[in-house]
Amino acid sequence: MIPEIRRCPRCGKPYTDYPAISRRDNKTEICPECGTAEAFEDYFGISYSGDAYWSDNVDESMLSESPAKSNGIYSLKNGWLKQPERDNIPDEPDLEPELGNWLEDAFHCNTVETIDEFIDNLYKLRQESLIAEGEYGKGNLIFKELRNRGILQGLKDKKVQLENQEMSLTEEKELTEAEQVDSWWADRKNKICEYYHTLMESTALPGEYDRNNPYLDQRALAQTANKFGYGKDMIKSVLKGER
Ligand SMILES: [Zn+2]
Repeated sequence: MIPEIRRCPRCGKPYTDYPAISRRDNKTEICPECGTAEAFEDYFGISYSGDAYWSDNVDESMLSESPAKSNGIYSLKNGWLKQPERDNIPDEPDLEPELGNWLEDAFHCNTVETIDEFIDNLYKLRQESLIAEGEYGKGNLIFKELRNRGILQGLKDKKVQLENQEMSLTEEKELTEAEQVDSWWADRKNKICEYYHTLMESTALPGEYDRNNPYLDQRALAQTANKFGYGKDMIKSVLKGER
């Protein structure tokens, strides 16, 4: 099989190895050597001074100095012009017990607020670690570990789920309020009827007035309407059971 020959946009040299993806935009393909060079730049905080070789929609902030400590100058042609003080990428640090604590905290995030706070703290940990220690800082590695284990996405999904639950609880509450209005009106209708019937019974002979078939008296209607703040028609329809 004939290997595919590509030209590296960063150094201009042809190469046949599997390409590296530029850290500058996460998509431009560059040669493996340039991929390593970019990693060195990031790790040691070296500013790249050549032409932009990555895609056009590159974020300007990527061109600015890496937040990592700067202590070396690396030339693609000549190698190290000034050796960095730390000349080895450190061994992967032991992430315990911090990682365990973060996992424990993530497990206890049961509300939208605690999830927001957790994610906020995690991004803060990463940012501070990147500035102070660079890409291999403990905080950044903890962040990556939690992200790779799916904890970050899991919490984001859980937040959406909790928000949906809250929404349906609100809907239930609204339904209860509508029911409360219904029961208030039922109670009020009883009071209106009771008032009118009592009024009628007070002027009728015993057993003469039938509550189930109320006689509509204009004066009693007017008095009841006045008492409850409605019109006479309203009192009539309440008595007839139309409302
Ligand atoms: Zn290259």
